Amino acid sequence: MTDPIPADGEQAVPMVDVRGVHKFFGDLHVLKGIDLVVARGEVCVLLGPSGSGKSTLLRCINEMEQISAGRLYVDGQLMGLREVVKDGHVTLHRLRDEQIARQRSRIGMVFQRFNLFPHMTALRNVMEAPRQVRGLSRQAAESEARRQLERVGLSDRADHYPSQLSGGQQQRVAIARALAMEPELMLFDEPTSALDPELVGEVLEVMRGLAASGMTMIVVTHEVGFAREVADQVVFMDDGAIIERGNPAQVIDQPTQQRTRDFFAKVL
Ligand code: ADP
Ligand code: MG
Repeated sequence: MTDPIPADGEQAVPMVDVRGVHKFFGDLHVLKGIDLVVARGEVCVLLGPSGSGKSTLLRCINEMEQISAGRLYVDGQLMGLREVVKDGHVTLHRLRDEQIARQRSRIGMVFQRFNLFPHMTALRNVMEAPRQVRGLSRQAAESEARRQLERVGLSDRADHYPSQLSGGQQQRVAIARALAMEPELMLFDEPTSALDPELVGEVLEVMRGLAASGMTMIVVTHEVGFAREVADQVVFMDDGAIIERGNPAQVIDQPTQQRTRDFFAKVL
């Protein structure tokens, strides 16, 4: 890493700290005690078979789903809950919706499906959240949106509607839209899985640039080449648990678990 030496304490609090998190959907036990630490500026790639709980974990970090047990901290802040200590006992209270919305606004999420507003240009799509959620003026939101479109290489497509853009371009607009909220953490859930193969590279390229700029990222992807090249930490999930973690060389090339080996034998 070429980062300058951080100021005292800056590195001490991880960007993401997941502790003993469980998630049930009814009787279905989907996350079975997840512990995960992602440092500031780190890129964590989450791999694992379909149904292993990867999307659910991202959705819990983003508070789109409520966890059933455990604690989840982003930038040192307990997410979704408030601890109240009374007579030596700790009770947990769910935060109010507006407090949760404030916490969520610091986390950007990009999905497999881009979900752009079809009746708005690329520029308007990117301007929308800064105007509505950050409360920026039209002018400030527009200059922010143009800055982010430039960052994803789409300055010349600002006035195009989603239907006039390729899938790869639409996904880059979706990334710009997330970045326009100035997130401190970006979550990607299979961002290239819905794309034609020839469009995957341009999206990964934008993500590579984002990682190089120091953004903290958790990326669910089957693009093992991306994981090998960009990830600081690779995490392998199976059946609701993390069964292997380490640097890419360890997890991808020398997995210790048979289930991890079986997975890579299929995807590589
Ligand atoms: P992955 O992203 O690794 O494919 P998911 O997190 O989407 O896995 O799903 C993990 C398990 O949770 C699956 O068995 C899935 O069917 C189940 N699941 C996910 N979301 C819901 C939901 N909203 N209600 C009920 N079951 C769900
Ligand atoms: Mg998923």
